[in-house]
Amino acid sequence: MKIDIVTLFPEMFAGTFGQSMIKRAVKEKILTIHTINPRDFAQDKHNTVDDYPFGGGAGMVLKPEPVYRAIDSIPTFSENKRVILLCPSGATFSQKKAIELSKYDQLVLICGHYEGFDARISYLADEKISIGDYVLTGGEIPAMVLVDTVARMLPGVLGSMESALTDSFYNDLLEHPQYTRPRNFLGMEVPEVLLSGNHAKIADWRRKESLRITLLNRPDLLDKTSLSSKDVLFLEEIKRELGDL
Ligand code: SAM
Repeated sequence: MKIDIVTLFPEMFAGTFGQSMIKRAVKEKILTIHTINPRDFAQDKHNTVDDYPFGGGAGMVLKPEPVYRAIDSIPTFSENKRVILLCPSGATFSQKKAIELSKYDQLVLICGHYEGFDARISYLADEKISIGDYVLTGGEIPAMVLVDTVARMLPGVLGSMESALTDSFYNDLLEHPQYTRPRNFLGMEVPEVLLSGNHAKIADWRRKESLRITLLNRPDLLDKTSLSSKDVLFLEEIKRELGDL
C-alpha cells in the first residue's frame, strides 16, 4: 500500500513512523509513506498557505490553491485509491473502517490545520474521517492514528493475524485479560485455567472473560456482535456471578 500525507508539518511523522511496526512494514516494502507539504506549492514569496476567514472571526483558514496543487502533484499509484480528509465533522473512525481502508492500494490523507480549511478543499476527498469527538490542533495526529490502525490490517505486518482477530473491536468485543510471568505477583495469582494446558478450557475462559469485560465496559458493543448460543449461556452465567457479588 502507498500512503500519501498532505501536511504542513511533515517532520511530525518521523518519530511515529520511524519506530516499531510501521518502520518494519516500510522496510519490508509492505507500506510506502510519502509526505507532501502544501507550503511547497504556495505561489507568493512568503509561501503563504493560510488567510483570514471571509465574514470575519478568529483564526486563520488553510487556503485551497496550495492544497489542490499538492494533491495534483501526487502520482496515481493505483486506481484503487481513496482520498481522505481528516476533520472533526467526518464519520468517526473505527476498526471496521480500518479494515475497509486496508483493501485500497493507495490512500491520500489531507491534514487540516489552523482554524480549519477552506470548505472547497473537501471536494478533493472521497470521504471525511474524524478520530473522535474532540478537536486537535491539526490533522497530523489523526493521520498517524489512521495509518497505524490500517497498517496493522495489511497482510504480513503483524507477526500473526491471529492476534488481530482477538484484539478489541475486531469482532465488536473487547479483548480478554492477558497474563505473563510471574504466576504470583504481589499476591495476585494468574487464573489457574491458563496454566492447565487444556486449550479448549483456555479458549472458553478467554471468550467468557472477553464477554465479561465487554458487558462491564461497553455493553453497547454486545448489540452489534454476533453471539453464539454458548456466548448467550456465558453471558447468563456472568450476570448471575455479578448479581452474587
Ligand atoms: N475549527 C475546526 C472545527 O471546529 O471543526 C477545528 C479545526 S482543528 C483546530 C484543525 C485541523 O485539525 C482540522 O482541520 C483537522 O484536519 C484536524 N482535526 C482536529 N480534530 C480532529 C479530529 N477529531 N479528527 C480528525 N481531524 C481533526
